[in-house]
Amino acid sequence: MAEETFFRKIINKEIPSDMLYQDDYVTAFRDISPQAPTHILIIPNKLIATANDIETEDEVLIGKLYTAAKKLALQEGIAESGYRLIMNCNRDGGQEVYHIHLHLVGGKPLGRLISV
Ligand code: AMP
Repeated sequence: MAEETFFRKIINKEIPSDMLYQDDYVTAFRDISPQAPTHILIIPNKLIATANDIETEDEVLIGKLYTAAKKLALQEGIAESGYRLIMNCNRDGGQEVYHIHLHLVGGKPLGRLISV
């Protein structure tokens, strides 16, 4: 059984965040330590710990992360210039918070790939 992280408290507004969007399925807020002019985290309201834990029943929910990302990119004015969507998984992937999240990063040229 996956354990709740502090992202649950952000979803429930028990701790402050710079929240940009929330509906019954997803929540989006600015990353506290932005790596680019735009750095937003988009998370499912349902706890899914890692990409390895995404089940077939979650496919529509995962799609909602991407449609939220698309809308936020437009809102941020980076849809045309471009951006990167990243989901880190486990230790080697650099995952720190075990509640899946899509990083929406943009607002400057990002190069070909994240450094390894
Ligand atoms: P990851 O390394 O993919 O698990 O990403 C976790 C992200 O959460 C990092 O980019 C952190 O900067 C970000 N983060 C940590 N604490 C907070 C917080 N309280 N509010 C917003 N973002 C946070």
